[in-house]
Amino acid sequence: RETARQPQRPSSVRTYVVRAGDTMGRVASRFGLTLVDLLSANLDRTSLDDLPVGSTLNIPTGQPGLLVKIKPGQSALSLIAGYGADLVATARVNDVLPTELEVGDELLLPGIRAESFAQTLAEKREAERQAQIARERQLKYERYLAWKKQKERDRLEEKYAAQARYEKYLAWKNSPERRAQMEAYERQAQYEAAQAAARERQVAQTPQRTAVSAASSGSVRSGLAWPMRSYRLTSRYGERDIAFHRQFFHGGIDLAAPYGTPIYAAAAGTVTQSGYGAFGLNVWTTGGDSTLIYGHMSRAAVSAGQRVEQGQLLGYVGCTGVCTGPHLHFEVRIGGETINPLGLLP
Ligand SMILES: [Zn+2]
Repeated sequence: RETARQPQRPSSVRTYVVRAGDTMGRVASRFGLTLVDLLSANLDRTSLDDLPVGSTLNIPTGQPGLLVKIKPGQSALSLIAGYGADLVATARVNDVLPTELEVGDELLLPGIRAESFAQTLAEKREAERQAQIARERQLKYERYLAWKKQKERDRLEEKYAAQARYEKYLAWKNSPERRAQMEAYERQAQYEAAQAAARERQVAQTPQRTAVSAASSGSVRSGLAWPMRSYRLTSRYGERDIAFHRQFFHGGIDLAAPYGTPIYAAAAGTVTQSGYGAFGLNVWTTGGDSTLIYGHMSRAAVSAGQRVEQGQLLGYVGCTGVCTGPHLHFEVRIGGETINPLGLLP
């Protein structure tokens, strides 16, 4: 009866279990071997870098050489002859007569080095490195393309949106409704001009009485002062657009200025209202038959009943009430009718 025979391996070759942090180069130098020596004993390696912890490496402790496994159809002698190894030296490092080895046994061929195998693995490693660089470059380029495409999309979207806004504006501007509105404003302006002219004539007819009255009462006919030192005229009298309080005829002018800009009395008069009203936090002053309205204030500096002189501080710019940004709504009424303040301002 035959006993099962364990595959033979040279006693000078020991097994090393890979630890964390090991590299082929580090393991080789730990055992005083060159990388090629180590690779020559480990022909099953497929990579110079793939070295999992717990996997094993063959370490020649005596003379290094090529460690081969005898495959079916081969013999130790055919391998020795094939690789051109020295027969005596081979018998010595393997501690066995080559003729005693069988298929499946391992044979160390001293002095034979797997140069081309090491070269192949080194080339493979270099190829992988190059492929990785190419992949990263491609990825970077693709990311750049995506970014560029998104930027172009954003640009086009903004362009189309602006175009749409413009077309909407044009449609509104050219709409029959708006034309009708503009004609209505025109008629109203003409009507007001006629009214103002009539009032002027009335004033001219009674010059002394009116002059006295204007001087003492602060009537706007004696002239208005700008209610702010700096401002931007953002809406004229009679204009109308989508802003809320201009859904109706704009009875005054809008002067945009930063929050807190001081507002001064455009004419002398008596404060009849200081607090929340038709134009947010607003101050109304009356002099003679004229009323001045200062709207959307953030804070008022006067109170009802108080007498104010032209140029006196009334309050500060804000955006109270129906408002889309800090501004002063300045309105002038004569005999209860609004007029265009620009006609009275210097
Ligand atoms: Zn206004």
